[in-house]
Amino acid sequence: MGIDLITVKGIRFCYYHLEWVLKNISLSLSKGEIVSIIGPNGSGKSTLLKLIAGIVKPQTGTIYINKQPIHSITRRNLALVLGYLPQNTESDFDYSAKEVVGLGRFPHLKGIGFLSRNDHEVVTRCLEATDILHLRDRTLSTLSGGEKKRVLLASVLAQEPEILLLDEPTASLDIHHQIRFYSLLRRLATEGLGIMVVTHDINLASVFSSRLLVLNKGRIIMEGTPQKVIKEDVMRSVYGNSLCITKHPQGEIPLVFPARE
Ligand code: ADP
Ligand code: MG
Repeated sequence: MGIDLITVKGIRFCYYHLEWVLKNISLSLSKGEIVSIIGPNGSGKSTLLKLIAGIVKPQTGTIYINKQPIHSITRRNLALVLGYLPQNTESDFDYSAKEVVGLGRFPHLKGIGFLSRNDHEVVTRCLEATDILHLRDRTLSTLSGGEKKRVLLASVLAQEPEILLLDEPTASLDIHHQIRFYSLLRRLATEGLGIMVVTHDINLASVFSSRLLVLNKGRIIMEGTPQKVIKEDVMRSVYGNSLCITKHPQGEIPLVFPARE
C-alpha cells in the first residue's frame, strides 16, 4: 500500500437532518492513484467530495488529509494541498480565463497578493496543459461549456496541490479532450498526486483509473480494479438490466455498453 493522502473513517452525513445521504463510508487515497467514483444520480458522489474538500462536515466519523484531521487544518493550508473542482461551477463574475487560472495561485501568494513571475509561469503552464492558452484573454461567459470546464480545471491545477478532487470534470468535453484530460491526470499521478474523480464516463474511468469505487444509495457497494468492479452483476444491480459488458480491443479492460432491445 502507498502513502495515504486521504483517509476517511466511518462517516455518516445528512443535510438538514433529513435522510442519511452517506452511510458509514470508509476509504483511502494513496499517492499516485486515480480513483474514480461512479454510481447513479443522487447516490451521494458530490456530497462525498464536498466532505473531503471540507465544505460540509460529517455528523459522525473523521476525514484525515495527510494524517491530519481535516477540521484541524486552516482553509489556506488545505488549499495548498487539495484542489477541488465542484460539479456546478456557475459564477456571477465574468473574469478572463487567465484571471480565473491566476485565482488558483491565491493560497501561495505572500504579502499584498500580486502574482510573482513564478506564479505567472505556473498559470501559463496550466493554460497549456489544458489546451486553452489561446483562450487566455476571453471571458468565461464567451466560452463553450467544455472550454469553461478546462479553464476551471487549469485553475485547480494552478494551486499545485497534492490531491485533486474532480466532480464530473469530463462531462462537457469532446472525446479528444476527454482523452487528453485523463492522460494529463495519468501524468500527474505518476508525479505523485492522488486523484479522485466523480464521473459517469464508466468506460473512460475503466481505461484510466487505478481503482473504481461504486456508490449506491449512500453506500460503497463495491471497490477495486476495473476488472473487479465492472462486472455484469454489479453493474446491473446498480444501473438496471439493459446493459452488457465487453472487453477493450487492446486488452483486459472491461467496458459497459447498452444492450440491444
Ligand atoms: P450525486 O452527486 O451522486 O448525484 P449528491 O451528492 O449531489 O448525489 O446528492 C445526494 C443526495 O443528497 C440527493 O438525494 C440530493 O437530492 C441530496 N442533496 C444534495 N445536495 C443537497 C443540499 N444542498 N441540500 C439538501 N439535499 C441535498
Ligand atoms: Mg453529483
